Amino acid sequence: MSSAIATIRRTKEIQEKYQVFTKKTYGQNFIIEPRVVEKIAAAAISDENQLCIEIGPGIGALTQMLCEKSKHVVAYEIDKRMPEVLRNEIASDHLEIILQDFLTVDVDQAIAQFRQPGQGVVFASNLPYYITTPILFKLFEAKEPIDAITVMMQKEVGQRFLAQASAKEYNALSVIWQYKCDCKKVMDVSRHVFWPSPRVDSVVLQFTFHHKYHYANEAAFFWLVKSCFVQRRKTIYNNLQNALKDKELALQMLEKAGIAPSKRAQQCQLEDFMRLFEANESSLIAAYQNQS
Ligand code: SAM
Repeated sequence: MSSAIATIRRTKEIQEKYQVFTKKTYGQNFIIEPRVVEKIAAAAISDENQLCIEIGPGIGALTQMLCEKSKHVVAYEIDKRMPEVLRNEIASDHLEIILQDFLTVDVDQAIAQFRQPGQGVVFASNLPYYITTPILFKLFEAKEPIDAITVMMQKEVGQRFLAQASAKEYNALSVIWQYKCDCKKVMDVSRHVFWPSPRVDSVVLQFTFHHKYHYANEAAFFWLVKSCFVQRRKTIYNNLQNALKDKELALQMLEKAGIAPSKRAQQCQLEDFMRLFEANESSLIAAYQNQS
């Protein structure tokens, strides 16, 4: 491997050489500590034959290490200045760079396109913080099999994933990831190992897919969960009747599932949402199809 990109000296050198100074609008904070990228890559990739998809390689601090651990890394970057840097500075035939806003990527299509038969798929990223939630929704809602997602995010956002029902941070994403995944903390990361240094600390989390639940129409289940959280201060009944545009039906559905209409969505566990869905599956699928 050429010398580590994840140091302050190399980062500044590369920024000068290619005139790629950080853009705040793209959430650019580069890792400048080789032990951090080493640990993320080691957690993300357990087998060199796994396809590793990275979101936001930047100048390649983490990408370089991912290419050491996997023979096939596909990196999606939005900033058009970066592919040249990555090609020259990493120069690995393990790396494929795609210049594209990840929010416009069809994750299922991407996996189908790059995955070889029998190959496992993992995602790794030091996420652009301004779009952490939409990126994770995209990954959790994918249908193609994913082994694990290892991502760095702001510490307080990370805490949401570790929160129980009723905690302030509990939201639709909390329910949806639990439907799909188990989650564990890989490590805390200090704000001082980034250039430029952000105002908050970070955490690396790993989501592994448990394959416990398999609704035929998962999109309808995800829609139900999101609908119940639209207005957090309102009751689950209020949110559900807004989504269904039918007060009576909303009451009946909650009654069938044994959920008090006065509850708020954040007081409901994954099991409550699953009971609500299963007790009313065909009506909810019809309602979802009507509005989409
Ligand atoms: N991986 C590098 C590292 O760890 O040093 C950079 C991480 S930086 C926090 C986030 C990266 O995501 C930046 O390179 C940024 O340009 C890129 N990015 C931001 N929005 C993106 C998007 N919508 N799609 C793909 N990449 C994006």
